[in-house]
Amino acid sequence: MRRREMLKTVASLGAIAVCTSHLCADDSRNIPLPRIDFHAHRDDATLEDLCAIAAKKNVKLGIVEHAGTKENIYPIVLSNDEELLAYIATVKESGCFAGVQAEWLDWSGCFSASVLAKLDYALGDAMTVPSPGGKRVKLWENYEIGDVDQFMDMYAEFHVEVISTQPLDILANPTWLPDGLMPRHAELWTEKRLRPILDALDQRGMALEINSRYHLPGERLLAMGKEAGITFSFGSNGRGNMVGEIDYCLEMAKKYDITAVNLFDPSRRSATRGG
Ligand SMILES: [Zn+2]
Repeated sequence: MRRREMLKTVASLGAIAVCTSHLCADDSRNIPLPRIDFHAHRDDATLEDLCAIAAKKNVKLGIVEHAGTKENIYPIVLSNDEELLAYIATVKESGCFAGVQAEWLDWSGCFSASVLAKLDYALGDAMTVPSPGGKRVKLWENYEIGDVDQFMDMYAEFHVEVISTQPLDILANPTWLPDGLMPRHAELWTEKRLRPILDALDQRGMALEINSRYHLPGERLLAMGKEAGITFSFGSNGRGNMVGEIDYCLEMAKKYDITAVNLFDPSRRSATRGG
């Protein structure tokens, strides 16, 4: 009896500890998940049209335009304060969140800290990797993989480098692999390779995107991330009719008990970002 009482006391103390820093874990399950797609691309569409597409899915959009130096080749690359400010004003006027998809490791140097701070968030990925000579190469275009294990070790380390060195809020397209390797995703992304990525996210307070386009980051990292208590975000990486497509994200959130308190919220964006 005494032991049972002691266990009850310990359990209630544990509950208090959980409830002091955030909402109580039990309460958080009653809060509806915010239906936000933080990874929507504008491309040639109007923001009005994209908002209408997302509204039909009952989803709010976060728009991301590529940002960085002009060495990054995309139809639009925001590269200075003036361009970024005009973009932020336009997107915010539409009612969407204004984000950027940061390119390479030198992107933030294109902007002043005060302008970056006006963004709702910045997301970035590890899909443009250093070639053996150190030049930026788009992994989905013309990268020579060579030895798969060596490549995977380099790629896992590069994820950590991006997370550790870049002023980002969200790691997008996490653990993405080129087509040839994607069928081996679960085998190649071992816990040993994932753990340093998770630790870096945790240390930096960066959100891990649950990506509905590629079904990433894989269920092993989702489970590990939930257990570690990191933050997640939903992202379609969609264009046109695909924006706001977050069904997969919602399915994974349900499966791994990811609740509203576990999700990225731009209003709680770290003041240290954007510099
Ligand atoms: Zn994208």
